[in-house]
Amino acid sequence: MRFIVAIDGTAGSGKGTIGRAVSRHYNFKYLDTGLLYRAVAFNLRTITTEFSSISEKMILKSIKGIDKNLLELKELRNNEISEIASLLATNFCVREKLLDYQRNFANQKGGTVLDGRDIGTIVCPDADVKVYIDAEEGVRAKRRTIQFKKQNIEVTYQEVLRNLKKRDRQDRNRAIAPMLPSSDALMLDSTNMSIEESLGIIILRINEELKKITLNS
Ligand code: C5P
Repeated sequence: MRFIVAIDGTAGSGKGTIGRAVSRHYNFKYLDTGLLYRAVAFNLRTITTEFSSISEKMILKSIKGIDKNLLELKELRNNEISEIASLLATNFCVREKLLDYQRNFANQKGGTVLDGRDIGTIVCPDADVKVYIDAEEGVRAKRRTIQFKKQNIEVTYQEVLRNLKKRDRQDRNRAIAPMLPSSDALMLDSTNMSIEESLGIIILRINEELKKITLNS
């Protein structure tokens, strides 16, 4: 069996927390695709500060340097790396090179959960379940600030809000693979919902799709 859950949404909407919870619930494999863009940003930063004029060679070198240890680095989560990642995500070559990695992950046997911005539209347009999560900016910024505080990352609410707004604008308006709900996505506004409530709705949807597969096999 191959079963793909695509979770897209705005920055800080909770898609990562929800994606991980879904993967634990079903014992599906999980990929946070934003982390890949962050890892490329982290590696590129050691080579250049001119992110608008990077070569294919630099991009390949940065992608080659991605490993499990790098993906676990706390620094990948900070605002500076977020902003570089969002800028690099407008680059065609970066997106193209990361596409294969994401599709290979999604198409392995069993269930997979991927979260990002273009999973339901570009990476896995044939995903079995697609979800798009959003919440009011202020609520997202507040949740993110609390998360940072728990991880001992020094940052103010205003800095987080500014970062979310800037990235959303850039991610939504870029020419290639913009952040966009797929027309067949389940739309979730988590402004007034707990993680458990959002999770409950998504689990119902996944169960419906899994039942169809069982009935047809
Ligand atoms: O999800 P996260 O906030 O960690 O993603 C960091 C940045 O990576 C986003 O602001 C976005 O620009 C980019 N991204 C993307 N496509 C994805 C995942 C992330 O463009 N599938």
